[in-house]
Amino acid sequence: MKTLVFATHNLNKLKEIQAMMPESISLKSLTDIGCTEEIVEDADTIEGNALIKSRYIKKEYGLDCFADDTGLEATALNGKPGVYSARYAGPHKDSRDNMAKLISALKNKKDRSARFKTVIAFSMDGQEHTFEGVCKGEITREPFGEKGFGYDPIFKPEGENRTFAEMSLEEKAKLSHRGKAFKKFINYINSNGL
Ligand code: IMP
Repeated sequence: MKTLVFATHNLNKLKEIQAMMPESISLKSLTDIGCTEEIVEDADTIEGNALIKSRYIKKEYGLDCFADDTGLEATALNGKPGVYSARYAGPHKDSRDNMAKLISALKNKKDRSARFKTVIAFSMDGQEHTFEGVCKGEITREPFGEKGFGYDPIFKPEGENRTFAEMSLEEKAKLSHRGKAFKKFINYINSNGL
């Protein structure tokens, strides 16, 4: 059995990813390894923040670790909010406020296209890898749907007529940035016999 740390405190995320992993891999969360200190994510790219987390655990705890980081990039805003997606409307990290700010920033813009990007960073002995998943779509003029989290009610994936917040978890996972990035990561794990 091989143990990997997933740099998250979120048990739901952990369970979801554990279910996708081969049986030979056992996942531990940050809570499981006793990591209660805050890991400061101050890089200016999504990839940089994912690497900060996976490298920190490898260095401080000596355990192989992967971490994910996600941002929403609006074309007309030159990729904003991007790495600042969680705290776009302020450090209180409120999704409603974030959505309202984004709708307002795009009010007079013709181009409403945007993309979610997830990067997974994997730090193991002497090696580092990153895996990227992108989901293209557009920002709606108002929120639709109650499911999901974050910007889901205002993000409509390309080719769909519903937002992520109007889809089931399974539907979203098939299309989503995070789903695509984890698929690549798990393919890597499977094909490298970890
Ligand atoms: P994190 O890196 O997964 O913490 O994501 C950073 C921020 O991006 C979150 O606080 C959310 O606001 C937003 N976000 C990440 N993933 C999603 C998603 O799948 N749907 C909607 N918003 C998301």
